[in-house]
Amino acid sequence: MSVTGLCQICEQNEAEHSCPNCGTLACEDHWDEARGLCAQCAATVERGGPDEGAVSPDDLDDDEVMRF
Ligand SMILES: [Zn+2]
Ligand SMILES: [Zn+2]
Repeated sequence: MSVTGLCQICEQNEAEHSCPNCGTLACEDHWDEARGLCAQCAATVERGGPDEGAVSPDDLDDDEVMRF
């Protein structure tokens, strides 16, 4: 699948990917190959996703569990 146009994040490089999540065209620099998302969506995923307040069990340390 080829993408035509400029990266919508930096608007300087030629876009090579189209984000399946938000539709943003992203150049190689602004594409997260591992996640298959644009840099913007990859950053959102890294923060824990759009679900606010969702805490994965891995984020709790033992102090949190033993608190009371
Ligand atoms: Zn870019
Ligand atoms: Zn995206």
